Amino acid sequence: MKNIAVIGSGTMGNGIAHTFAQFGFQVQLIDISEANLVRGIATITKNLDRMVAKEKISEADKNKTLNNITTYTSIKEGVQYASLVVEAATENVDLKLQIFKELDEVCPEDTILATNTSSISITQIAAVTNRPTQVIGMHFMNPVPIMKLVEIIRGYNTSDEVMSFIVDLTKKINKIPVEVNDYPGFVANRILMPMINESVETLYNDVAGVKEIDTVMMLGMAHPMGPLQLADFIGLDVCLSILNVLYDGFKNPKYAPCPLLVNMVRAGKLGIKSGEGFYDYSESRKAEKVAKQFA
Ligand code: NAD
Repeated sequence: MKNIAVIGSGTMGNGIAHTFAQFGFQVQLIDISEANLVRGIATITKNLDRMVAKEKISEADKNKTLNNITTYTSIKEGVQYASLVVEAATENVDLKLQIFKELDEVCPEDTILATNTSSISITQIAAVTNRPTQVIGMHFMNPVPIMKLVEIIRGYNTSDEVMSFIVDLTKKINKIPVEVNDYPGFVANRILMPMINESVETLYNDVAGVKEIDTVMMLGMAHPMGPLQLADFIGLDVCLSILNVLYDGFKNPKYAPCPLLVNMVRAGKLGIKSGEGFYDYSESRKAEKVAKQFA
């Protein structure tokens, strides 16, 4: 396997492209506009510079990595030689189904199609292709160049061969694969999101304040970051949407999003990206400083 196409050059896509390129793969990075690709490459360059400064890689490694990435605004052109496509486009079911239909039409017959989705069913995505045995989930964690885990998700029809191939490939990029089956939230979000939801519920029920809840979890459970602050980092809209996927998928009230979370999203309080969530980020990332003080 030499050519790996990555669809989407946002937060996850540029990290995935960076990681494969650093381990010697030729990466075709695809997004809908040149401006997005420029931004993606700028982020990769900045992250590589940081690695050089920390002496984790050399300047030559950085240049080699950047030279291994080419950019495209057309899926058809970008995937024509790809042995694997990793889709990391915006989290939207209709968009992903449309992308996978197109990938199935334009990719070589033996190309493996992977998705980095956090919450959409791999089986549903595979069903719009004529190659459901070759469709798989590769759920990288943010920030991709640093985080070791990749959840490898077996869709209903994913073949054993494709599963073991992707597990081996994940090890080749120095990550740790964990095999899971395709049910709502997989493992990571099935456990993380109810914990975040319960901490919002604890706040909503006035059991304790934001800092108190986060401090209990940081100092008491050795979590590096409290659940409410983590929710701010992930984005409250993203948390709400994953909880809704769990709620709809299992039809179990235990996954019902806390009304406070729903209200905050409606009010545009989305966490770091909007400047305010459970913490106020308006003045030079005040909340991060608060969290460090407790850590
Ligand atoms: P993002 O919004 O940062 O980036 C998405 C990119 O996809 C954008 O640059 C957008 O222009 C591009 N895009 C949209 N439609 C496209 C198309 N038709 N063709 C090519 N590119 C297209 O999103 P993100 O946070 O990187 O998330 C991407 C995927 O990764 C989602 O499925 C998300 O659930 C998953 N994910 C995100 C995280 C996270 O922490 N952000 C963690 C794990 C998984």
